[in-house]
Amino acid sequence: MLTDSHQDKGLRRQLVEGLKQKGIDNPDILSAMLQVPRHFFISDTLHHKAYEDTAIPIGCHQTISQPFTVAKQTSLLEVQANMKVLEIGTGSGYQAAILKQMKVNVYSIERQRDLYEHAKKLFAQLSLSIATKFGDGYLGWQEFAPYERILITCGAPSIPQALLLQLKIGGILVAPIGTDQQIMTKVVRQSENNYQITEYGPCSFVPMLENVNHL
Ligand code: SAH
Repeated sequence: MLTDSHQDKGLRRQLVEGLKQKGIDNPDILSAMLQVPRHFFISDTLHHKAYEDTAIPIGCHQTISQPFTVAKQTSLLEVQANMKVLEIGTGSGYQAAILKQMKVNVYSIERQRDLYEHAKKLFAQLSLSIATKFGDGYLGWQEFAPYERILITCGAPSIPQALLLQLKIGGILVAPIGTDQQIMTKVVRQSENNYQITEYGPCSFVPMLENVNHL
């Protein structure tokens, strides 16, 4: 249900307070997370869990990321208004909505047909102008490249080559890299052929899978 009650707003304030205590200090991120109703992005049956700092199932064996993870990845991404950002793994659409709230131009790819259709419809209902694509994120989205920022929201075994090439020089890519467990990784494209890699510790994401899934 797309109504945002007084109670939801109160729980969201508490969640954002918790994120501050966990070290998230970027006011633009905290304000976006305060504005965007997370319960819009999960099923009604799980509404009561929307403002816990946990990942929640969204169908197709996927999850909406934990709010802390969304905040952390968004802070590593260092976005500014009007930047062109490519997200791999639309999922529920929540992360994309947070970026949109921060006035970013969002392009988002999802390989699960059901999740793609659902997020696309939800963005329209919420009047969020976010470009969506049903496709394999390993290939990126060449048509709109280069991107100033690229965010991968699933665990990739290694940094996908196509995405490195679609990153603008000076741009930043943030991704959990690894198979069973991942390491949060930030890549800065310093020049045509030079990439600076910094690691930010272990994390756990659903895997980045190849090819699209029509189910
Ligand atoms: N950003 C999402 C997180 C969803 S979980 C949110 O805010 O809800 C990660 C998503 O990545 C899943 O929906 C999964 O289907 C998707 N995914 C996995 N491999 C992919 C690939 N190769 N291309 C695009 N999406 C992929």
